[in-house]
Amino acid sequence: MQKGNISVETENIFPIIKQFLYSDQEIFLRELVSNAVDATSKLKTLASKGEVKGEIGDITIEVSVDKENKTITIADKGIGMTEAEVMKYLNQVAFSSATEFLEKYKNESSIIGHFGLGFYSAFMVADKVEVKTRSYKKNKKGTTWTCIGDTEYTIDSNDRKTRGTDIILHVSDDATEFLDEGRIEGLLTKYCKFLPVEIKFGTKTETSFEGEGDDQTEIKTEIDNIINNPNPIWKKKANKLKEEDYKKFYNELYPYSTPPMFWIHLDIDFPFNLTGILYFPKLGNSIEVQKNKIQLYSNQVYVTDEVKEIVPEFLTLLHGVIDSPDIPLNVSRSYLQSDANVKKITGYITKKVADKLASLFKKKREDFESKWNDLGVFVKYGMLSEEKFHDKAKKFVLLKDVDGNLSTIEEFKEKIKDTQTDKHNKLVMVYTNNPAGSDTYIEAAKNKGYSVLQFDNVIDNHFMQHMESKLGDVTFVRVDSDTADNLVQKDEVTESVLNEKEQEKVKTLFESKVSQAGATITMKALSPDDLPVQITRPEFMRRMKEMQSLQGGGMEGFPDSYNVVVNSNHPLVAEKLLKMRSEEKKEDFVTHLYDLARLNQGMLQGAELSSFVNKSLEFLK
Ligand code: ADP
Repeated sequence: MQKGNISVETENIFPIIKQFLYSDQEIFLRELVSNAVDATSKLKTLASKGEVKGEIGDITIEVSVDKENKTITIADKGIGMTEAEVMKYLNQVAFSSATEFLEKYKNESSIIGHFGLGFYSAFMVADKVEVKTRSYKKNKKGTTWTCIGDTEYTIDSNDRKTRGTDIILHVSDDATEFLDEGRIEGLLTKYCKFLPVEIKFGTKTETSFEGEGDDQTEIKTEIDNIINNPNPIWKKKANKLKEEDYKKFYNELYPYSTPPMFWIHLDIDFPFNLTGILYFPKLGNSIEVQKNKIQLYSNQVYVTDEVKEIVPEFLTLLHGVIDSPDIPLNVSRSYLQSDANVKKITGYITKKVADKLASLFKKKREDFESKWNDLGVFVKYGMLSEEKFHDKAKKFVLLKDVDGNLSTIEEFKEKIKDTQTDKHNKLVMVYTNNPAGSDTYIEAAKNKGYSVLQFDNVIDNHFMQHMESKLGDVTFVRVDSDTADNLVQKDEVTESVLNEKEQEKVKTLFESKVSQAGATITMKALSPDDLPVQITRPEFMRRMKEMQSLQGGGMEGFPDSYNVVVNSNHPLVAEKLLKMRSEEKKEDFVTHLYDLARLNQGMLQGAELSSFVNKSLEFLK
């Protein structure tokens, strides 16, 4: 037996390894299983080149827990190591790379994935590590290497007969949670679910039936419990896959969730390597709940599901996997954001997603439209946050009108240009964010020949502002605003039924009864079919107030302003009102007409509403 010091120059790094990001202790298992996978893959490569003779046989990696002896063993049937290799790889390569890694990152609290600590991460949970290995090379004896968590090690030969490596961790007293089989199986499922070599963890019982009817017998068989799917579909070619394959895989990633709408298979090898599948989930009207479901892998090793730094924020609404060995994993988040490779990857994914949507729109417009309710938030969010995405999406983003018709921006502009162009040559897009609550305004606008858009999504306010600034020649006005009402004057009846004196009289009557602060009364000779009294609000003022209240007040004390438009051609005004004898009756009548207009705007509430209902009942008597 030989004894030695791993490195005399280096100070003892074991205490640092032990404390290293306590919360990420669990990654030791990923590191060691990854090493086992690497050793197995190397063996497969050598065998394919004919450098390993004969059948390589079963190459399953086995992980096991021995509670009694307090050990965890990771056993592979890979290339193994000769004594010289153990000295070289474990004492020099692994040790110095772990030292270097810790030196570099010991003050970084946010290292993605924590790659690179490698073999020595074993000491985060073990106070003694044994390695029993035998190389695939002919005429080499087995080797046992032992280290008890300081820089001393022992090395000795053993009589191991088979090729491969067993890593035996003697779990330390403060890490006994890892002796729990459920915990280990959970970690294997999290980190190793798609590793390319089968990983066995114990056995499980499979139940099957034999025979028929009364003769049927239940048969229980113990079978290997294989943790992973070594051939995940993102590694396969898209033309070899069917729709069911993608749906099945989605279900494997997110059991029990609603099936996705469609997906993109990513596959690129230049100028960087990246594979993956991005799924479009059904979003509806929400954007918060769905985030952070994309899983990031590096050569099929799970790294993280926090991909904010790697994909643009709006793409985090998508689900699926991204696998790239080119994303630098052992670095801090801030570094990642400025990394050129990451920027390229981000740009590539954004482009792919936009192209997919564009082609769906072009080739299957009907299908695209039917998905719009679940897609709209995503597309608008993307346009708001990524310039490049905006440029592509402006051709397929859809505007929905209150009757459910969908049109692109260009189509809609074309449709309304004759009826909805104002005197400054701007296109006025009339919208509602509450179709049920502003029905009379919508009807009035439709009667004037306007198309009313429906914008009731969480991000629509931002989206409209974005479109105004991007398009330049378009303004959005809510259907109950004064601008919507004044938009086009041509259908206003210029001939007034009332003469000036009579108009003045009506106006004075309204002025004496309309008590609302900030209200201005205007007489208008509209069609007799229009409402007798309407209340509109200046678009600008309403937006200011909405913005202020979003930002936490500031304008509460500021008086609101309203336009009370009295239709002097409505029979109730032009005939009934003026024919009334008693002043008191006239005043009651005017108040009632005004209250009806307020009711229509949702401005009558509480006691005012009750009193209005009571008065209406009086009228009916
Ligand atoms: P890395 O895997 O990043 O090279 P590690 O510290 O994890 O760094 O491992 C150092 C080296 O030890 C590996 O490159 C490999 O040569 C050797 N090694 C580790 N585990 C095994 C194993 N299970 N079988 C064969 N060689 C191994």
